[in-house]
Amino acid sequence: MPELPEVETIVRELRATAVGKKFWDMESKLDSTFTPDPGKILNQIRGVRILDVVRRAKFIVFILDQRLRLVVHLRMTGRLMWKKPKKEVKHVRAVFIFSNATSLLFSDTRKFGHIWFGTEKDIDQISGMSKLGPEPLEISEENFCSLFGQTKGILKNSLLRQDLIAGIGNIYADEICHRIGVHPSSRLEKFGSKRITALYEAVQYCLKQGIEHCGVSMSDFVGTRGTLGKHQKYLKVYGRVGDECYTCGSIIKKTRVAGRGTFYCPKCQPVVR
Ligand SMILES: [Zn+2]
Repeated sequence: MPELPEVETIVRELRATAVGKKFWDMESKLDSTFTPDPGKILNQIRGVRILDVVRRAKFIVFILDQRLRLVVHLRMTGRLMWKKPKKEVKHVRAVFIFSNATSLLFSDTRKFGHIWFGTEKDIDQISGMSKLGPEPLEISEENFCSLFGQTKGILKNSLLRQDLIAGIGNIYADEICHRIGVHPSSRLEKFGSKRITALYEAVQYCLKQGIEHCGVSMSDFVGTRGTLGKHQKYLKVYGRVGDECYTCGSIIKKTRVAGRGTFYCPKCQPVVR
């Protein structure tokens, strides 16, 4: 599933390529992808211009004129890609056609992705964005430390809680835990203030590195031009079960934490008690 760095990569590409374009037409290949239904969206979106593209957590937000928004969540397997001549894209659920004849495709093998359209005022509510916690790369160190200092529970579960801090998913949660040298099932209430500060720094470091390398392309993530991210080459634990830890040479293990496959180094990452 694309996480904050992967979505940020897409948003940066779209900001460079989609801003200024005017919607001309839209085709739905799967009506359940849309809220409200595609017929209603088409009536309102024709002739509307894209003013900006921004990211909120893992949501892609097209800021349109007339105070409208088009919001996309890729979920597990969603992709936004510019249509290329002669290149066939499978599992297309939506096609946005612009007045300069370019087309942006939304494809989604597993059909969990979603597209919302509405006014600026309504869209936060209907998309669920209003329930999100702060952005990890925007929150101050002070506020982060206060937030996590007061939070109880398993470290990895807390990193994945979108209402606590928004945008972190399974891959980056494991990398963050490895960077602070702590087992993902450690409990936050056992952390002292030094460790909470280290957690803040690890969140910043891991997400910024991911963005710098244009995200992780291990299964489904590709950029809007079909380019792959490079960050999978830099991962320290995620997906490395059976390989040696770069720090200590121990064999990376896989377990389940927060109901998710979780990778860690048994030597570098003891459980904090
Ligand atoms: Zn190690």
